[in-house]
Amino acid sequence: MTGIQKVGVVGCGLMGSGIAQTAAAAGFSTTVHDVAEPFLAKGRAGILKSLGRLVEREKITAESRDQALARLGFVTDLSALRDCDIVIEAITEELELKNKLWGELDRICGPRTIFASNTSSLTIGSMATATARPDRFVGLHFFNPVPMMPLVEVVRTSTTSAETLDRALAFVLALGKEPVVAVDRPGFIVNLLLVPFLLDSVRALERGTASTVHLDRAIQLGCGHPMGPLSLLDFIGLDTVVRIADIMFNAYEDPRYAAPPLLRRMTEDGHHGKKTGKGFYDYSVNPPVPADLDSGKA
Ligand code: NAD
Repeated sequence: MTGIQKVGVVGCGLMGSGIAQTAAAAGFSTTVHDVAEPFLAKGRAGILKSLGRLVEREKITAESRDQALARLGFVTDLSALRDCDIVIEAITEELELKNKLWGELDRICGPRTIFASNTSSLTIGSMATATARPDRFVGLHFFNPVPMMPLVEVVRTSTTSAETLDRALAFVLALGKEPVVAVDRPGFIVNLLLVPFLLDSVRALERGTASTVHLDRAIQLGCGHPMGPLSLLDFIGLDTVVRIADIMFNAYEDPRYAAPPLLRRMTEDGHHGKKTGKGFYDYSVNPPVPADLDSGKA
């Protein structure tokens, strides 16, 4: 028994909306918070589209789509998460921002509420110690797109209680996902190994090793990856990847985690990948075409 019935999700972006959809589809009463209505509207539209596709492909029935939607609430008032059994944070990858939020949630939520962060590269301990409940704080690292990806890294800190870990593992299983337990070091398991590979693919592109399409196709067909690394970068969000790289570079002082200048420039120019319509590919056309990176237009 997880003892979890009500789920709160903070941040209705790429990940938060996916986590909320998954929780609602698994039968949990789910409330999603973001700072303003347009973010909630965008996330809700993404959830409607995703559930619609699942109905079209006959993965779920129209009835279960409607039931999932009925379990979802969208709020700008953080105090609406007051009586949640677990709150999962999926806001921008910045420690200061996250810890300000945790401070507020610590005051709002009851003592039994478990706090979980979906951070990609910060340590869970650096957030847990900013609250009065480091024993009820855990990492739940989901993968994008959340409704499709079966893995969740469950991160235990030196202060996470055995009961919290057990409840978190049971919750992940109740979501229909497979948990793996990771230690609390930046990048956990997957990003520790994946991020240098993604950054190396940008370095290879900068060096002129191959075109965008050939680089992606080589890894897809040669290594059996479902998508090439440049497509994956666009999918994750280039702004998020730069933040993750900077945090991991600071943590490990390893040049493998240094964000390549091209990636930084594209992010500064507002080209954040699929979510802004442009990254290594241009998504304004269907199917997407490689973006013109040399002209500065990215
Ligand atoms: P995103 O930019 O798509 O969404 C972030 C959302 O958080 C936005 O809607 C923003 O308005 C909201 N937000 C920012 N500050 C807030 C606050 N104080 N209160 C409430 N909402 C706030 O980002 P994302 O890709 O969904 O990433 C979110 C988190 O998930 C990050 O920690 C990231 O590292 C992690 N993550 C991302 C991926 C990925 O593939 N993108 C995968 C796993 C984990």
